Amino acid sequence: MSALDEYRKKRRFGRTPEPAAQRKKTANGRLFVVQKHRASHLHYDLRLESDGVLKSWAVPKGPSLDPKVKRLAMAVEDHPVDYAEFEGVIPVGEYGAGTVMVWDRGTYEPEGDGNVAASLAKGDLKFRLHGAKLKGSWALVRTRNQQWLLIKHRDEHAASEDITLTAPLSVVTGRRLADIAADEGGDVAQAATGDP
Ligand code: MN
Repeated sequence: MSALDEYRKKRRFGRTPEPAAQRKKTANGRLFVVQKHRASHLHYDLRLESDGVLKSWAVPKGPSLDPKVKRLAMAVEDHPVDYAEFEGVIPVGEYGAGTVMVWDRGTYEPEGDGNVAASLAKGDLKFRLHGAKLKGSWALVRTRNQQWLLIKHRDEHAASEDITLTAPLSVVTGRRLADIAADEGGDVAQAATGDP
């Protein structure tokens, strides 16, 4: 099974505006994005480019800058690299229906031997983020099956502030979830429940 088969099978591309399942590589091959997604539940999707796709985790509470806080991150299907551009509305009745915001985006660098695929297979990836909101050293550690923990390492970018509350807007358009829903014909009231 190729990496994007599951992504493709879950979606009807005539109905959802999400990008097609196509492998590609960015210039440095190390794109990261965090998408805030008000679907049936609010969550934050962390995606790291590796071998032509975005490895993806759904983080219900979003990232924490506090090294004492371990955030549950559920591994989900690989997404196409083009998904990092997607901000909009997934229509009612489609997989992941709701409003999607590009909450943070940038590049990352793996720490250690630099082999992202091998680190993920082992269930322990350490990496540095170069985003607008998220910076410095982080870890993703698998606890069992699809269940991982996202943890901020202690460094100059660690903080006690709740970044999901202090920086709630789209890093690309400056919109709230409710603004995106209003602009793209989505459910504004539902989207607004994800705005602080
Ligand atoms: Mn999602």
